[in-house]
Amino acid sequence: MNMLFNRCILLSAVFIIFIFCILSFILYSNSVLNSLYVDDEYVVSESGFVWPTPNYFQITSHFGYRNSPFTGKTSYHSGIDIGAPQGAKVLSSFSGTVVFIGFSGANGYTIRISNGIFEATYSHLSPNFIVYLNQFVSAGELIAVIGPKNVYGVPNNPYKDSNGNPTNGATTGPHLHFSIKKGR
Ligand SMILES: [Zn+2]
Repeated sequence: MNMLFNRCILLSAVFIIFIFCILSFILYSNSVLNSLYVDDEYVVSESGFVWPTPNYFQITSHFGYRNSPFTGKTSYHSGIDIGAPQGAKVLSSFSGTVVFIGFSGANGYTIRISNGIFEATYSHLSPNFIVYLNQFVSAGELIAVIGPKNVYGVPNNPYKDSNGNPTNGATTGPHLHFSIKKGR
């Protein structure tokens, strides 16, 4: 009787340790998976595109015709502007290859990523790019951070603010200009 009782205690202990190990493993693997985005609102659309600026969702200027913030006249806006501060993370919206990286006129420091069907443009970035030309990036991968309003050292940069300081393309302040085009 006593021996049976001891065996029960032993088996219970083994069982409890076993459950504890499994729970620890689940908690550990979850924390590893979530660690990349632990503080971020990582959002994937129904079509599978990742929202490029975790935690920042305000569209400050929509796609299409608008009154230009520079000339005041009607002009075509080829993407959306998302309000986000300098240094905020920019994630790749889908998996693809970096097909352009550099300063691109009115778009300022820009990355373009193509998967053969869609091409995404991310503009007004920091020149300290995290990816490089021809690199394959995954959906949700960190590619850059939002750039400053003013950038220096770009040859023949025609864009300037009201103080005459060169700007990161045609921009009045840090934000992400973002577009996805089909057929590239
Ligand atoms: Zn824009």
